[in-house]
Amino acid sequence: MTVSHRAVNVEVFPLELPFVESFRHATSDRTACDSVLVKLTLANGVVGWGEGVPRAYVTGETQATMVDHITGPIAQGLFARTWSEPVSTGDLLTIGMRLPTVSGGEVLASNAAHCAVELALVDALLRSANTSLGDILIAANEKVLYSAAITATTVEGTEKVAKRLKLVGFRDWKVKVGFDDDDERLKAVRAIIGPDATLRIDANGAWTLEEAEEKLARWRVHGVETVEEPLGRSRRADLGKLKAKKLAAISVDESLVTGADAASLFADRACDLLNLRLSKLGGLASTLRFATTAHGESMDYQLGCQVGETAILSAAGRHVAAHLLPRYVEGSFGAHLLAEDIGDRPVTFGHGGIGNRLSGPGFGVNVIEERVRAYATSTHSVSNGSSR
Ligand SMILES: [Mg+2]
Repeated sequence: MTVSHRAVNVEVFPLELPFVESFRHATSDRTACDSVLVKLTLANGVVGWGEGVPRAYVTGETQATMVDHITGPIAQGLFARTWSEPVSTGDLLTIGMRLPTVSGGEVLASNAAHCAVELALVDALLRSANTSLGDILIAANEKVLYSAAITATTVEGTEKVAKRLKLVGFRDWKVKVGFDDDDERLKAVRAIIGPDATLRIDANGAWTLEEAEEKLARWRVHGVETVEEPLGRSRRADLGKLKAKKLAAISVDESLVTGADAASLFADRACDLLNLRLSKLGGLASTLRFATTAHGESMDYQLGCQVGETAILSAAGRHVAAHLLPRYVEGSFGAHLLAEDIGDRPVTFGHGGIGNRLSGPGFGVNVIEERVRAYATSTHSVSNGSSR
């Protein structure tokens, strides 16, 4: 028998959760986790937690638009119907599809807001059934192999972080580029990680076609396997030309937000790899759908993360990664990056960058509400159509 529930309350917590000291100094572009967490309560009293991370340069969302969308149209859609406990991947897709997504103004799609509510709803429904996400997204592998990721903006900071992460024993590495001193940066990283490690770079759309060609040709000496988002959304039309040069595998991140983006990328085969991220794409359902489509199109993909995400997104990502076996997986930095995580157990990678499959109700991590409240810059609540 299908068991259905009604959501009675949604609380929204925009966070400012500082990074650990060493990362704060090494990365000048971001010094704190700015996730927005959602606490969703069902009529039976069971609570679920979700998380989304606003990135204005990706979906156009900010903490403020997330709060507006979650307490407005998304909560309306949530309260308007009953929700069945999911027992299959198809049920997860249905839940995600039935929650509204908003667009307009600066917002390309309210995917981070959608992700936060969808995760909270799925977590609550799974907990009502006393089941784990892993009971539905059956793990193809007990272990997930994470990549090291370096987002430092100086060469000195890059070296410092690389040396620290080298101790973990990662096989796969990704480095943020797009700065004047990238030559020095990549030389330093390759020297630290050794010749056998795989190296990806992320340009976050910094280059023109000509710049990308020139740099990638020069950096062949550093063994750059993949370049992520070399050109950006505004130069998307040039991506196929860059791919044809075969200077490195081409991955897309900011240029893949909507279903229309994916359709266009598949149509002209403009890339080799998709960077799927839960918050960017709107949560579990849309990420699973993108992955299924990619399989059908014989397109490879990786599962990315948001820098500074908490244990909620890391745990959900861990389940998805164990189920899908993407080419690369990023995330689970947890207490390596955050001054304090908000879960009752660490969701971080261990030696070799390995994360074990999580068990336990929901996503397998229990949120410590006092910590969330301590790092929240405000709280917003909406129940049965009334907000305060
Ligand atoms: Mg990226």
